[in-house]
Amino acid sequence: MQYVILGAGAAGIMAAKTIRKTDAQGEITVISTDTQVHSRCMLHKFLSHERSAESISFIDADFFEKNKINWLKGKTVNKLDTVKKTVFTEDGNEIGYDKLLIATGAESFIPPVGKLREANNVFGLRHLRDAQAIDEMAKNAENIVIIGSGLVGLDAAYGLMETGKKVSIVEMAEQILPIQLDKTGAFEYQKRFEKAGASFYLGRKAADTLMNDEGNVSCIVLDNGEEIPCDLVIVAAGVRSAVAGMDGEGIVIDRGIKVDDYLETGAKDVYAAGDVAGLSGIWPNAQKQGETAALNMCGKKTAYTDRYAIKNTINFFGLVSMCIGVIVPEETDTVVAREDSKEYKRVIIRDGKVVGVLLQGDISHGGIWQYLIKNQISVENIQKNILDLNFGDFYGIKENGEYQWNMS
Ligand SMILES: Cc1cc2nc3c(=O)[nH]c(=O)nc-3n(C[C@H](O)[C@H](O)[C@H](O)COP(=O)(O)OP(=O)(O)OC[C@H]3O[C@@H](n4cnc5c(N)ncnc54)[C@H](O)[C@@H]3O)c2cc1C
Repeated sequence: MQYVILGAGAAGIMAAKTIRKTDAQGEITVISTDTQVHSRCMLHKFLSHERSAESISFIDADFFEKNKINWLKGKTVNKLDTVKKTVFTEDGNEIGYDKLLIATGAESFIPPVGKLREANNVFGLRHLRDAQAIDEMAKNAENIVIIGSGLVGLDAAYGLMETGKKVSIVEMAEQILPIQLDKTGAFEYQKRFEKAGASFYLGRKAADTLMNDEGNVSCIVLDNGEEIPCDLVIVAAGVRSAVAGMDGEGIVIDRGIKVDDYLETGAKDVYAAGDVAGLSGIWPNAQKQGETAALNMCGKKTAYTDRYAIKNTINFFGLVSMCIGVIVPEETDTVVAREDSKEYKRVIIRDGKVVGVLLQGDISHGGIWQYLIKNQISVENIQKNILDLNFGDFYGIKENGEYQWNMS
């Protein structure tokens, strides 16, 4: 059996590992634009100079050799023929497959604002090569503007501030981390970033750019006309699934590559997993999808049921937060919150069930909330303050490892 995997990220590597465990004899080829396997979640540690490029790898140095996997690194696939079961690389190679996994992840989205897309000093932060280019340019940059204050934008800001750089962050929402946190939780981080020297422009959009003779953006112009001088711009305004060249016959591309419950695309024997499938944009889900797709590729029919699970863990300046499920409550939801000097907790209840939770400062009972949300357990009969739930409220763990709920 000839297995081909496009991508050496969270999904692709997990798929390769799973195939090797399941099929000791099959031939596995991984093809990736990346020349080095790395964790995107650790790119800020590279920017802050706390980690080298090598030390943000998440596999052993002999991973490919040990698992008898052929890795074609630094190769980009730009065409698929799902009828002839062949993939084509930009540099003219053709590779046949019996089973194919597309795990090409996502690319930074650079909005068509002024000359952001053409300028030499504008970068997304998605790949190690982006971080390396940013790091190089940051050496001589005094003013760095970051567009977007989600996790990626703040990762970039944090990493660069650790090296002593001055950063200004533009965010069109009225708060930072608008997808992850509510205003109260976000403000705790804003204060810490500001104390460390960052400037925020909240409720503002980047509307235009001023350019210098070298083809660099020298100023970001905001929608109120204000100008922020800059030598380097990082755009962290969202991503798009990396689907270029993946439109082989049968493959349907919407927000990402459409897959069924077994992560198979509309083309027979072609699967997709991770950010490219657009089901979620986080590391553990990409891994789970890689594993599930691999099992199906090996003929072990396994459904991917975990389509839920928006879960984010945030840690800047030693303040940790976890948010699971719904962030913005609907009018008819019940919101229970408590804040003191050490922690902030907020729970959103809809129709008697928890649909979202935000923990800040102390995330030690995160597993309980995740369980309640995922399994849609009614909390209507709880006799105590819901914010005080702890592991003692579960009387045991079932044989399959699930918590046994004590109060239903
Ligand atoms: C800065 C940053 C911080 C993050 N922090 C967190 C975090 O704290 N927690 C969390 O859960 N998630 C985080 N994420 C998201 C997480 O990294 C992704 O969800 C995860 O990497 C997705 O894995 P993937 O395998 O789908 O794609 P990727 O990891 O992006 O891997 C895609 C692979 O495909 C290859 N590729 C792409 N196109 C082609 C092509 N045409 N031909 C050949 N190869 C190709 C690439 O080279 C790469 O090897 C972060 C992301 C970024 C960018």
